[in-house]
Amino acid sequence: MEQWMRQGFHWLAANPSANRWARRWGLRFGAARFVAGETLEKALDVVRDLNRRGLEVTLDHLGESVTDAAEAEEAVRACLETLEGIDRTGVRSHLSIKLTQLGLDIDRSLTEKQVVQILERAGKAGTFVRIDMEDSARLPATLDLFKTVRRVYDHVGIVIQAYLYRSEQDLRELETLGANVRLVKGAYREPPSLAFPSKRDVDENMKKLIDMHLQSGCYTAVASHDPAILGHTRERVEQWSVPRDRFEFQMLYGIRPDLQRDLVEKGYRVRVYVPYGTDWFAYFMRRLAERPANVWFVLKNVGRHAG
Ligand SMILES: Cc1cc2nc3c(=O)[nH]c(=O)nc-3n(C[C@H](O)[C@H](O)[C@H](O)COP(=O)(O)OP(=O)(O)OC[C@H]3O[C@@H](n4cnc5c(N)ncnc54)[C@H](O)[C@@H]3O)c2cc1C
Repeated sequence: MEQWMRQGFHWLAANPSANRWARRWGLRFGAARFVAGETLEKALDVVRDLNRRGLEVTLDHLGESVTDAAEAEEAVRACLETLEGIDRTGVRSHLSIKLTQLGLDIDRSLTEKQVVQILERAGKAGTFVRIDMEDSARLPATLDLFKTVRRVYDHVGIVIQAYLYRSEQDLRELETLGANVRLVKGAYREPPSLAFPSKRDVDENMKKLIDMHLQSGCYTAVASHDPAILGHTRERVEQWSVPRDRFEFQMLYGIRPDLQRDLVEKGYRVRVYVPYGTDWFAYFMRRLAERPANVWFVLKNVGRHAG
């Protein structure tokens, strides 16, 4: 049953009509638990509030893969506007970007130019840009583009997904560039030929990659809500005396705020990934796919709108 629900949510996330339909409705069905708002100003209010509570942020202007250059230009404009907002208000926030939003499927050289434009603006704002990792079909191009810009810019990082068999090798190569890496379990539907099918193997690989990257001396962002992964990381950083400014924890907005608070109280750097924008549907569906139990929360909200 759970497997079937997960597949359904992944299918909906990738369905253009469902995404268009949702955009017309505005943030509903409990999506506001995971999405900070539809406008930049609302998102900046959320960032301010999180900063006040000792949390760092990375803002993400929501959107999925685009199909023409005009849409890609629009996505770049939104990223630049976000950086402008961070600069103007002085909030403590990084920016997370997705390359398919910037036209990766249409024209790679155009996407590279867009990323450079974003990195130039981020440099002026004194902030950091993280390139999110998408599904395995986009991984080689995403890594290539990252390596190209990393040779020029320091304030850019990437993501490695522990569910993929190839990740250990990829991480090793990234370490030779001194890359700042966010380690995650992985959020897309991948075949067993490419990804560990069992959760236990993914968890073990995640721990292995965390150990590798912490020992490499490169900056490590451990992005997880799993208490076992957080506990493992805390043990290792104590054991190896990793300075607190060489690693951080990251969690998604609306998920396990209790753990976020607890880590801040213990003196760790914690960054919350805050998505915003009108294109919230696919992101919301992926959060439901990760945890089908959230569907009860959605149904309660549907009931509220209907009633
Ligand atoms: C900051 C951040 C950035 C990310 N960036 C990427 C990326 O670029 N590419 C990518 O593929 N993936 C990304 N992910 C998603 C990641 O790959 C996982 O899908 C997601 O974090 C769930 O895995 P977990 O480590 O929290 O552990 P899990 O074992 O899946 O979950 C552990 C516990 O966390 C809680 N939890 C997890 N998910 C949810 C949820 N949706 N709703 C409510 N509770 C939940 C539950 O208590 C659960 O028991 C990112 C995650 C974070 C936190």
